Amino acid sequence: MKIDGKEVKMTEGYCVKCKKKVEIQDPVESKTKKGTKIAKGKCPNCGITVCRMGGIQEKAEMKKAA
Ligand SMILES: [Zn+2]
Repeated sequence: MKIDGKEVKMTEGYCVKCKKKVEIQDPVESKTKKGTKIAKGKCPNCGITVCRMGGIQEKAEMKKAA
């Protein structure tokens, strides 16, 4: 998502039901069996579980700043 030409960081995932990228609600970080970081949460539109590879984006940004 871009606002005023700036990339806005948020945890986005692809919702298979809405067939589009959505902002994940209440994302929690998890790991797959292979050890890949993922973020899991709910679609704000339909409420199904949406996953995102690479974990929670906001968290990563906060780590960089600290
Ligand atoms: Zn959805």
